[in-house]
Amino acid sequence: MVFVGGMGGLGGGMDVGQPNLSSAKPRGVLELEMRVRDLEHHVARLSLLNQALWEVLREELRLRDEDIEQRAHEVDLRDGKADGEMNGGPVRCPSCNRVSSGKHYKCLYCGQLFEKPLFG
Ligand SMILES: [Zn+2]
Repeated sequence: MVFVGGMGGLGGGMDVGQPNLSSAKPRGVLELEMRVRDLEHHVARLSLLNQALWEVLREELRLRDEDIEQRAHEVDLRDGKADGEMNGGPVRCPSCNRVSSGKHYKCLYCGQLFEKPLFG
């Protein structure tokens, strides 16, 4: 008989009620691993497309990498935190300076339209 896998010697038959030490993973773990792989694939694809888009824009509009870094910093600050992310948190209105929910795309007080995130 041939055992496949590294843990083939464990669980010789008298282990009823013992934790399963074989390489078999619970169904929930396998599903999470699949979701993580799927998300990693999507992130890699989005990164590739972002890079391609940026290179087209940089060439067509004669921009520099510093231009997109500056704009990214400005966009980052819209939710009030310089953390490299857009979190959809509270947004301070550039017109009336009051705070609205980032889930809405206009100021709840004065109606000023906020820049809607294209990829968010
Ligand atoms: Zn406002």
